[in-house]
Amino acid sequence: MRGTAALRFTDVVKCFGRGPTEVRAVGGVSLAVEPGEIVAIMGPSGCGKSTLLHLAGALEAPTSGQVEVGGRDLTALSLSAQADLRRRDVGYIFQKLNLIASLSAIENVMLPLELDGSSPRSARRAADIALEAVGLERHLDRFPDDLSGGEQQRVAIARAIVRPRELLLADEPTGALDSLTGDSIIELLASLPASTGAALVLVTHEPRFASWADRVVFIRDGVIVDESVPSVPAVVPVVAMGSTN
Ligand code: ADP
Ligand code: MG
Repeated sequence: MRGTAALRFTDVVKCFGRGPTEVRAVGGVSLAVEPGEIVAIMGPSGCGKSTLLHLAGALEAPTSGQVEVGGRDLTALSLSAQADLRRRDVGYIFQKLNLIASLSAIENVMLPLELDGSSPRSARRAADIALEAVGLERHLDRFPDDLSGGEQQRVAIARAIVRPRELLLADEPTGALDSLTGDSIIELLASLPASTGAALVLVTHEPRFASWADRVVFIRDGVIVDESVPSVPAVVPVVAMGSTN
């Protein structure tokens, strides 16, 4: 018997605009991601990768087809149930470092819990644990401007894992980072499905980042054109790499 997928797309189409200016960003995608699984999505700019994540996170509604998160059909949910799902079940990590500048690291991480009615005390406890999990326990009270890009992305990851999530969505999460920092962020992200049980969908341009995934899905013009299982072990110690050159 098949278990409940963390994310399931069935014949999903997403069009923007109408008539001659219509853009078919997603042209009929079917894909299931199991709990604990890491799926990387690769493809050229404009092929529909971000749109797929927006559909998965209930930030956009499909033109046709079905999007299910943890067995719930998003199109059948009321707008307020969709908002609940965005707040509770899906953790989103963007390329842009999108923390709230006027809130400290721990306040940024507490925010989704407080918006959802948690007491400040329990939100702070959960945020403490999440920031420790991403290695930022010494920077709880720093503001985003006083953190490096990699540290800011770690805060965003802490915010994404501050509560149990069904699904983590990361859209080119290393795009704003230098390559060494990017490596450490991907390593952290790739460890989350095992430590939290969430599924991770990771959009990336970098084959070496995609190699952390259980499966890589290649998109072109809004459709899946290929799928592969990385065969190369993902762990390439940076020191060893340097010493062979
Ligand atoms: P990717 O993330 O792979 O670069 P996107 O999903 O952002 O691609 O975009 C896919 C296509 O859909 C592009 O042609 C883009 O211009 C178009 N598109 C995305 N979002 C919108 C929108 N809100 N309105 C109109 N067109 C959009
Ligand atoms: Mg994109």
